[in-house]
Amino acid sequence: MGLKVWIDKGIVDEADAKISVFDHGLLYGDGIFEGIRVYQGRIFECRAHLERLYESAAVIMLKVPMEIGELTEALEKTVRANGIQNGYIRLVVTRGIGDLGLNPFVCKEAQVIIIASTVQLYPEELYEKGLKVVSVSSVRNHPMTCPPQVKSLNYLNNVLAKIEAIRAGAGEGIMYNHLGYVAEAIADNVFIVKNGVILTPPVQAGSLDGITRRVIIRLAEKENIRVTEMDLTRFDLYVADEMFLTGTAAEIIGVAEIDGRVIGAGVPGPITKRMRKKFFEYAHS
Ligand code: PMP
Repeated sequence: MGLKVWIDKGIVDEADAKISVFDHGLLYGDGIFEGIRVYQGRIFECRAHLERLYESAAVIMLKVPMEIGELTEALEKTVRANGIQNGYIRLVVTRGIGDLGLNPFVCKEAQVIIIASTVQLYPEELYEKGLKVVSVSSVRNHPMTCPPQVKSLNYLNNVLAKIEAIRAGAGEGIMYNHLGYVAEAIADNVFIVKNGVILTPPVQAGSLDGITRRVIIRLAEKENIRVTEMDLTRFDLYVADEMFLTGTAAEIIGVAEIDGRVIGAGVPGPITKRMRKKFFEYAHS
């Protein structure tokens, strides 16, 4: 039996969940999305995700055709219809049906799509061993292009970065901004630990304002671990004591090696492990 999908203001069978070839989400990548976790039947950080969605929408002048309360209900309904206890929601809002031209304002109404399914994490052993990552040459979106904080449907820049990482045999890639400072990983945020302090680039360095990133910063502060947001260079990553990535699907994963340089002891370090444990407790509390 297939999934139940929210589309066209209601829930349908997966086989009937179809969009028009004239939807600008397809023709131009014109739309936005969120990836959200479900833990024990509860939607994790729902409000934060939806607020980020509405901010992305405001920037691209897209009117989400549902209020935050209605959208929350639709998410909950879709999760229940699929009997998801622990899983992953993909919420997509496309510009909707228009003509073949670029003009978004001819599209009458945005289309909301909700897919609730299980999640594919990295294999468990990678969390023990740590990831190998590489620096990629694809530069993170310049702030004067579509702003990197907009979680847009156009991920082609990240896809190009992913191609580079895969071809280099790495699990993830580190993206830098146009000034050469660390922005983020291809689909995750980046943290390092140096002398007991957690360091992460400010969102303005070109990252998405990750919901998992925000949770980790809060949890670290609760643990009395100092967190400093500052510009980081490749040098800082190479000499880090620990490094980890955060994201909705990956949660927290340690990095063992970057560009062939071993980080710390070559396995996820003590602060990475501690934050992973705290995150698990928080998500399942
Ligand atoms: N950066 C990018 C480019 C992403 O696509 C994501 C989401 N996978 C993240 C960072 C992590 O953000 P979040 O914790 O909100 O999933």
